[in-house]
Amino acid sequence: RSLPYFCRGPVIRGFGRGSKELGIPTANFPESVVDSLPADISTGIYYGWGRVNNGDIHKMVMSIGWNPYYKNIKKSMETHLIHKFKEDFYGQMLSVVMVGYIRPERGFSSLEELITAIHNDIEEAKRRLDLPEHIKLKEDNFFRTSI
Ligand code: ADP
Ligand code: MG
Repeated sequence: RSLPYFCRGPVIRGFGRGSKELGIPTANFPESVVDSLPADISTGIYYGWGRVNNGDIHKMVMSIGWNPYYKNIKKSMETHLIHKFKEDFYGQMLSVVMVGYIRPERGFSSLEELITAIHNDIEEAKRRLDLPEHIKLKEDNFFRTSI
């Protein structure tokens, strides 16, 4: 297994699919970061820790999916930090550690169903990240070095 997986990169504009309007904004990584993912990382929903620049470390959920902009031959990585930010952070450095896997990607027959699933993912992530073995990763050197 390639977890935990640490990575860092600037936040770029996403597909404008209106995640923010759903109350679940997702910060996108550029192609270079996505291309560096280990080949055996499956698409689906992951959880872990993340921070913007040298800010606080927050729990996060990340969706790794097929990128429609590249005819679904490239992956995309979208991170939702479980924290209320006062402002957007486009262009700023996002550091994350992916700690575990929640579920595969799947289709939803309604927006309501999708939102419910994401809220369940968030609750699941919060619970799992309270485990001592996961809290430990928040203290990793990766997050100690300032960028
Ligand atoms: P886009 O299509 O550009 O990704 P979104 O609606 O998904 O647009 O919003 C993502 C942006 O919202 C992020 O790039 C970031 O600047 C901002 N943002 C604010 N709060 C959060 C959060 N808790 N998690 C992730 N991104 C957030
Ligand atoms: Mg987004």
